[in-house]
Amino acid sequence: MTKRKIGIMGGTFDPIHIGHLILGEAAHRQFGLETVYFMPAGNPPHKRNRAGRATDAQRLEMVRRAIASNPHFELSEREMNPDGYSYSYRTLEALNSEHPDCSFYFIIGADSLFDFDTWREPARIAAACSLVVATRNQTDPVRFEQEIETKRKTYNGTFLRLDTPNLDISSHHLREMIQKEESVKYYIPDPVIEYIQQEHIYRVDDGEES
Ligand code: ATP
Ligand code: MG
Repeated sequence: MTKRKIGIMGGTFDPIHIGHLILGEAAHRQFGLETVYFMPAGNPPHKRNRAGRATDAQRLEMVRRAIASNPHFELSEREMNPDGYSYSYRTLEALNSEHPDCSFYFIIGADSLFDFDTWREPARIAAACSLVVATRNQTDPVRFEQEIETKRKTYNGTFLRLDTPNLDISSHHLREMIQKEESVKYYIPDPVIEYIQQEHIYRVDDGEES
C-alpha cells in the first residue's frame, strides 16, 4: 500500500514569514506531499502573553491568514496544548497511530538539525517520520551534507535535504523590524501584516498592550 504523504511544519510562528511558507511549498513539490500541516507550538503558561510577543490566539490567526490562499496547506492546533509545551515525538507517535495510512514528513531548518540531539527523544522522532531539512544561516553546503549524514547514522533515520535557497529571514529579526517601524512587506504576507498592525503586535513601546 502506498501511504499518503503528509508534511508537518512546526514552529512558534511569532510571526509566520515567507521562510516557513516557502519551506512548506517546496516540500510539497519535492516530495509529493498531499497536505502540509502548519502546527504552531504551544507555550507553557509562564511564556504566554509576554510583552513584545503575540498571544497564542494571535499566532494561530497569523498562520490561518498566511496559509488561506494555499489549498494544500492546513492549520493544525494539536500542539496548542492548554497546559504547556507539547513534544514532537509524542505528536508524531500519536499521528502515526491515528493515521496508519499516512507517512509523515517533518520539515525543519538547518538550525533545528544542528540542535536535533537536544530535542526530547530525538531517536523516537526519527523513528516516527522522515526529516526534511532546508538550509539556513548560510550553512556551508559540505558541512550541511555531513550533518545530514551524521544524523542518518546516529538515528538510523531518514533525513532528506530540501532544495531551497538560503532564506535569510527569522521571526526574531522581523519582531525587531516591526518594533522599529521598518517595513516587513514581502517578508510576511499582506493579510498577516494587516493583522499585526490592527492588533499592535510586537510594538512593545506604544503603550497599547492590554
Ligand atoms: P525565531 O527567530 O523566533 O526563532 P524562526 O524564524 O526561527 O523564529 P521558528 O518558528 O522558530 O521561526 O521556526 C520553525 C521552523 O522553521 C524551524 O525548524 C526553523 O529552522 C525553520 N525556519 C524558520 N525560518 C527559516 C528560514 N528562513 N530558513 C530555513 N528554515 C527556517
Ligand atoms: Mg527559530
